[in-house]
This record gives sequence, C-alpha cells and structure tokens, in this order.
Amino acid sequence: WFVVFEGGDGVGKSTQVQLAARALHEAGVEHIVTREPGDTRLGEALRTLLLDPATGDVAPRAEALLYAADKAQHLHQVVRPALERGAVVLCDRYMDSMLAYQGAGRVLDVDDIAAIGAWATGGLIPDLTVLLDMDPARAVGVKRGRDRLEQAGNGFHQRVRQGFLDLAAKAPERYLVLPARTGREHLAEQVRRRLVDLGIE
Ligand code: C5P
Repeated sequence: WFVVFEGGDGVGKSTQVQLAARALHEAGVEHIVTREPGDTRLGEALRTLLLDPATGDVAPRAEALLYAADKAQHLHQVVRPALERGAVVLCDRYMDSMLAYQGAGRVLDVDDIAAIGAWATGGLIPDLTVLLDMDPARAVGVKRGRDRLEQAGNGFHQRVRQGFLDLAAKAPERYLVLPARTGREHLAEQVRRRLVDLGIE
C-alpha cells in the first residue's frame, strides 16, 4: 500500500504522517515513513539546493526537473523496495506536490509536469492520498521566510492550494480531503478510519 500525504506549506502534514505511523505501529503493520524531496543521499542534496535561499533564482523548468530527479531516485531506492517487500509506505509529499507547486504554482503546463513525473516514477499512483487543505493566508504565516519557497507571494500559494484541490476532484475515490484546521487527533482518527476501510490496518 502506498499512502501519500499532500498539502501546502505549514498545514501539519508531517504531524499526520507521524500519527498514521503510530497507528500502524500499534496495529503491528509493517510500514516505512518517508518524504519528498529527500530521504536519499541524492534527494537530500537536491532538497538543500532547492530550498536554500543562497541557490538564488531557479528557472521553473529546472526546478521541475530537479524535483523529478529526486522522485526518480526516491522511487528506485526507497519506495519500490519497501512496497515489494510488502510494507505500507507513508510518504510526505509525492506527485501532487510537483503538479501543484511546479505546475499550478510556477504556471507550467500541468500535462507536461504529469508526463515528466510519470516518466520519473514509472507511473506509480498512490492507493490513497490524504490532502490537508487550508487557506495559505493562515498557514504560510507559521514559518514564512524560512526557505526559498516560503518567500513566494500569497498568489503562488493560492494557486498551489487550488492545484491540489483540482487533482483531488479528478479522482475523488483515491483521495481523503480534510480541512487542516481541525484538531490533529481528530484528523488522525479520520485518516485511521480510511486506512481501516481500505484494509491496510
Ligand atoms: O514538505 P516540506 O514542507 O518539508 O517541503 C519543503 C519545501 O519544498 C516546501 O516549501 C514545499 O513547498 C517545497 N516543495 C516544492 N515543490 C515540490 C515539493 C516541495 O516547492 N514538488
């Protein structure tokens, strides 16, 4: 099972990944927790380059290709091996982040990004995507300016939010869209229920 957590900056994704992992741990289900960008040596190097303000201006197409490279390495080195041995993979960000940030956010053609992403991943689609949705005007303030992207304007983050919602609307059966401002234990309970429904837990 491949379960992905998506959403804009500062919506509490990582917390929900950890709470889902705790639930799987308590149920005795083999799983790994991983994230993009990062979690491989190459990915961590790319993450540093992509997020460091010192990197300066990065052309949107260059950015998209670097995220795609991170994804290709991550799938090859972490995600596929775990799925092949039967572990549940809980992943903090995946394809939708690339479609929402580099596609909708950077205003590149979403079909192009989807094609590059599908090539990078061999077309692996999550069984479930938990989308934590929040008005970025509330979320971004939490940690504004910490990295290169968090310095982007509110318009950018609004496009990203809409990008995520559009993706969820296209395949609602593969998504659990939750209002991220709900209490974290309540959110975690809704995620857990979906995992049970799917037969994961
Ligand atoms: O999930 P996390 O907050 O650790 O992501 C790190 C940063 O990378 C965030 O600012 C996120 O918006 C950015 N990012 C991006 N494009 C992606 C994935 C992440 O701009 N495809």
